[in-house]
This record gives sequence, C-alpha cells and structure tokens, in this order.
Amino acid sequence: MSAPIVLVGGGLATGTAVRELRSQGYDGELVVIAGEPHAPYERPPLSKGYLLGNDPAEKALVNEEGWYAAHDVDLRTGVRVDSVDPDARTLSAGGEELAWSGLLLATGAGPRRLALADDSGAPVHYLRTLEDSTTLKEQLVPGARIAIIGGGWIGLEVASAARQAGAEVVVLEALEQPLLNVLGPEVGALFAQLHREKGVDVRTGVRVEEITGSSGSSGTGSEGPTIRTAGGDTFTFDRLVVGVGVAPIADLAVDAGIAVDNGILVDAGLRTSAPGVFAAGDVANVDHPVLGHRLRVEHWDTAIKHGTVAATNLAGGSAVADHLPYFFTDQYALGLEYVGHPGPDGFDRVVITGDTEGPVEGRVFRVWWKRGDRVVAGMHVNDWDAIGRVRELVGTEADDAALGS
Ligand SMILES: Cc1cc2nc3c(=O)[nH]c(=O)nc-3n(C[C@H](O)[C@H](O)[C@H](O)COP(=O)(O)OP(=O)(O)OC[C@H]3O[C@@H](n4cnc5c(N)ncnc54)[C@H](O)[C@@H]3O)c2cc1C
Repeated sequence: MSAPIVLVGGGLATGTAVRELRSQGYDGELVVIAGEPHAPYERPPLSKGYLLGNDPAEKALVNEEGWYAAHDVDLRTGVRVDSVDPDARTLSAGGEELAWSGLLLATGAGPRRLALADDSGAPVHYLRTLEDSTTLKEQLVPGARIAIIGGGWIGLEVASAARQAGAEVVVLEALEQPLLNVLGPEVGALFAQLHREKGVDVRTGVRVEEITGSSGSSGTGSEGPTIRTAGGDTFTFDRLVVGVGVAPIADLAVDAGIAVDNGILVDAGLRTSAPGVFAAGDVANVDHPVLGHRLRVEHWDTAIKHGTVAATNLAGGSAVADHLPYFFTDQYALGLEYVGHPGPDGFDRVVITGDTEGPVEGRVFRVWWKRGDRVVAGMHVNDWDAIGRVRELVGTEADDAALGS
C-alpha cells in the first residue's frame, strides 16, 4: 500500500484540495495536518459577518463538520508540521514521523508585526485567526476608541465593523490614500471618502512615531494609550488594530531546501522544486501562464482555484492555475469584486464609469485600469450583475466607449 497524500495547512486551500481529491475519485489514504485547533475554515468572515456578530463560526468551515470522517480523511487539528524531508518523502509532526507519497504545503501567510506596537505595552490586535476575530469582536462596543494602523483591506474592513458596532475609529495610513498600491490614487480616495462619510477619522500620509502603552493621562485631556505621529498629532485609544500586510509562511520549504522567493516557488501546475511536493494559496508564488509573470496573492478565490489544481495534480493529473486573480470586499453596504492584475508594469490610466455623485456607499460604478490600450484590471462596485462583463473585458483592448456599455 502506498503512503498517504498529506496536506499541510488548515485553511481554504487545504480544505478545498482534500474535498476535490475525494470528489475526483481519489480513494487512497489522505491526511490533513492543520496547525490551528479547527478543521479548515475560511477567513473573509473574520473581518465581516463573524466580526459583526451576524454569522456563526461554523458558517466559515470549508467542509461541514463530519465531512472528514465520512470521507475517510485523517484530520489532525492543532498539530504543526515541524519539518519535511523531500528526499526520504517523510515529515515530522507532533513528534511523529509520517511517510507521504504526495505533499501539499498550504501554510498560508501571517500578519506582519509592528515592533513599535508590540513593544508598547498597549492592547494590540492582529487579525488572522478565528480567535483573533473573537477577541477583537468583544472590543467593538459603542464608544470604544479603536485605532487602526494600516488602511489596507483588513484595516478598512475592521473600521467598517467597528463603526457599525458604534465605536469611534481612526485609521492611520502611511501612504497618500488607503489601498493606494492596489487601486491607485483616484479609487483609493473614494475609499477614504466612504469611511469619512461613515464617521471614521481617516488620516493619510501619516508616520507613526511613538506608541505609549500606559493607560495614564495622555496629555490630551483623555485617558488611555496613545499614538504620536511624526506630524505631532496624538491619538488616544482603547484598542489598537495593526493591519500592515502579511508575509508567506514558507519556513518548512526553506528548511527542506525547496526554492522560495516571496513564497514557495511553483510552476503553473503548483509543483515546487521538490518532486511530489506542491504548494497552494497564499504561500504559493506561481509562474502564471496567462499573466506572464510570477504571482503571489492573498485572495480567497485563489485558495479555492489552487486547491482544485493541486488536488488534480497530486492525483497524477495535469491541471494549470491559469485563472485571473479575483477578490472581493464588503464594507458597510458597499460591496465590490475585482478581476485582473496590473503586474510589475502597473497601469497608466483609470477609467471610471457609472455614478460619480452622492455618498460612495450607495454609488453603482465600474473601474477599469488600463496600460496603453489594454485593460489590465476591472472592478464593479455595487453592480452585482456586472462581474461577467468585467471578466469579459479584462485582458482585452476594449476602448473607453465599450467600457461604459
Ligand atoms: C480577516 C481576513 C479577511 C479576508 N477577507 C478576504 C476577502 O474579503 N476577499 C479575499 O479575496 N480574501 C480575503 N482574505 C484572504 C483569504 O482569506 C486568504 O487568501 C486565504 O485564507 C488563503 O488560504 P490558504 O489556505 O492559502 O491559507 P490560510 O487560510 O492562511 O491557512 C493556512 C493554515 O496553515 C497553518 N499552518 C502554517 N504553518 C503550519 C505548519 N507548519 N503545520 C501545520 N499548519 C500550518 C496556519 O496556521 C493556517 O491555519 C482575508 C483574510 C483575512 C485574514
């Protein structure tokens, strides 16, 4: 009998891959080793429905409870893989040595730490796990002063949840607009406007210089820990949320001598440099066959697509991860979906079609990012029937008139 296929992780990529293996008819032994004390779960609800108190934790499970036992999958939760030996085709986890015939590394990414915050003694939150979200949710109460460092997706989604819970919120972003690197200045400014309209104190171009953790007098007339910026502004808060990006968790691969550079390097079939070892999801840096450059993204949809491709190839197939990147966000009543990737050459023009007046939350519009004549990315905001059209036009040389149709 051959050794099992082992899937390491416990997130969406792992949960999807194991389900796909069974649904594609793979009937060999399967082991899932999940570092967290939970069956594989999805993270978007942690900054949305679950954080808002609208959805239970179970709703985030990738496969419903009981699925693993019912499909003869050996699910080991709360167990971390300590090392992998690609030559011997073994790994060590929880003090046990385990042989594998195929291996998936889907270890995800972890929040970048901010030493200034960690060393301050102030109550600091990062948001990656179910426990992080549960702890933060308890703090989002009317009148709580929530300071958020980082105006990226996590920071803004937390701002939205905190405002909806009645907290006072300040967002401190180092760049000139929130989401500047993803959406560019025009659309980033719309997100700043959205949050200001909702009562968030959005500060941009801010450098945080000092964080004091003591809950004594801040010198501002109010009590609590404080943030002081290079511009001399002081913000007193009860809770600090840090959302300054994530880094891929690739240490297992590094230690095993598998090629790593901003994540685990994989080909379009998600194969690493070690035979029989695949990587998927946030940790995988893919040689993208359509975009023509390497791509590592932290997207829900990519974890699903990768999970499917990895499953096919672990079972001996030849699938490729050629989908265009897609992501979504929900903030207040605004929702968007984005498709594409401008890549290292970026974009040189933004075309916005649709509503340009009124509160941002209620506007219905589309945004197109162009490089030369080429549409390199597209997005709809509150225009839920438009995603098909967005997918159709991204990658084409549609002229501006077509973008408005
Ligand atoms: C709060 C939040 C909100 C998000 N919202 C959105 C959104 O709205 N839209 C969107 O497109 N994307 C969103 N994302 C991103 C999306 O959730 C990720 O892209 C997705 O979770 C990646 O899945 P993954 O399986 O690659 O990794 P993960 O979900 O990170 O899972 C990896 C797992 O591997 C475990 N692990 C690591 N090392 C080991 C080890 N040595 N042994 C065993 N286990 C290990 C980790 O503990 C973790 O549980 C959000 C992410 C977060 C954190």
